[in-house]
Order: sequence, then structure tokens, then C-alpha cells
Amino acid sequence: MSQPPKYKRILLKLSGEALAGPSGYNIDPAILEQYAKEIKQVLDMGVEVAVVIGGGNIFRGVSGERSGIDRVQGDYMGMLATVINAMALQSAFERQGMYTRVMSAIKMEQICEPYVRRRAIRHLEKNRVVIFAAGTGNPYFTTDSTAALRANEIEADVVLKGTKVDGVYTADPMKDKTATRYTHITFQDVYEKKLSVMDLTAFTLCQENNLPIIVFNMNEQGSLLRLAQGEDVGTLITV
Ligand code: UDP
Repeated sequence: MSQPPKYKRILLKLSGEALAGPSGYNIDPAILEQYAKEIKQVLDMGVEVAVVIGGGNIFRGVSGERSGIDRVQGDYMGMLATVINAMALQSAFERQGMYTRVMSAIKMEQICEPYVRRRAIRHLEKNRVVIFAAGTGNPYFTTDSTAALRANEIEADVVLKGTKVDGVYTADPMKDKTATRYTHITFQDVYEKKLSVMDLTAFTLCQENNLPIIVFNMNEQGSLLRLAQGEDVGTLITV
């Protein structure tokens, strides 16, 4: 018999750049397909899945005179970029046979639903994958903060931050060959050791609400499934 899942409801944060593949820009169809397949595996186990997608592969908030775009305008452009990624994810999920809803923090009724907490929860209960788009709907935030906010709102058991690295390291593994990965670390230790996991707003929101974070490598095939099965994958951060 297959193993029961460790989590009932997860919130998976994917960065926009992850969707871009090696080029760092645009959307790579092979990555979309791979992520959709990985997510389907955990959905089929009975896990409820919500996704927050970033926008960095298309546009990231910029400021300063050289860009010619002010901070707030740039942030809204960044939020719109996440909607494009969300729609691409939705198509890829549907191609794998999953039912999906995109819920946007900025109303765009012709292409997706507006974010309404109770409706999001209802979709999850019906085993639809809910993709949260347009960040928090507010400038000066990030999609990591969106992940922390939405995860708390929908009462997810954990925030899974899917990245290109295997977890949180003692130092940058690209620069320091002696760096080792933490399997478990507390929020306090992350602050004290000045490790980077998420931006501070996102991080504090998780800590204050006792919401664990797992940083793991989304590009390692099967890692999401193994996480859902309760294996020690990546780095677990708890209070
Ligand atoms: N953004 C914002 N408010 C939010 C979420 C995102 O203003 O609640 C903007 C911000 O400019 C950010 C951009 O959208 O740089 C894209 O999001 P993010 O950088 O978090 O994407 P990722 O790095 O995950 O691809």
C-alpha cells in the first residue's frame, strides 16, 4: 500500500527564475512539464496543493533613475509578470490532468478568479491546485511574502520553498567548498547566523505563526514526492 502523506495541505513557492530554465528568462516548456508532473504525484497522494509563483524571469521590480520606472510602478509590473507565469503553470497542470484555479490578488476577471480566501480553501478541498498570482497585490512586497501570507491564510501545514539548491547551507556552496547543508535549523539560528532563506517579512510571518518552512531542490526529480512522504529532504526550519 502506498505511504500516507505527511502533510494534508502544502503551499509550494516557486520562483519565476526557476521556470526559465538555464537561460534565466522566459518560460521553459520542459521545466513546466517537469514541475506539473512532480506536483501531480503529490496531489495523487491526497495532498492539497497551493502554489505561489514569482515573476523574476519576466520582470522584477526596479527602481532608480536609470530604469526610468519608479518603484511602485515596477512592483506592479512584477506582479503582472507573476500572472503570466501562473497562466503558464495552469496550462501545464491541466495537460497533466489536474484541475486548477488561478486566483489573483489584482482583479483580472476575464482570465482568472479574484483571490477570496474561503473560495481558495474550497478549491483545495475539492483537490484543485490553486495558483496564487499577482503576489499580495501590494507594492514593496515579494512573492516569498505572498507565500508566507497565503500559507497562513489557508492554514497550510508547511511552506515548501522550491529552489535550485538542496537547502540552507552554512555558507554559499557555490563559493565555499566546505559549506555543509543543515537538515534542521530553527528560525532563531537563521537570524543569528545571518543565513538567507526568504526575505525578513516572509520569514517573520512564518516564525510568528509557527509555520515551518522547508527549503529544497525542486529540480531534483522526486524530491517533492519524497518530502510529502515524510522523508528528510532539504532543510527544515522550525520555531
Ligand atoms: N511584487 C510586489 N508585491 C508582491 C509580490 C511581488 O510588488 O506582493 C513584485 C516585486 O517587484 C517583485 C516582483 O513582483 O520583484 C516579482 O516577484 P519576485 O521577485 O518575488 O519573484 P521571484 O524572485 O520569486 O521570481
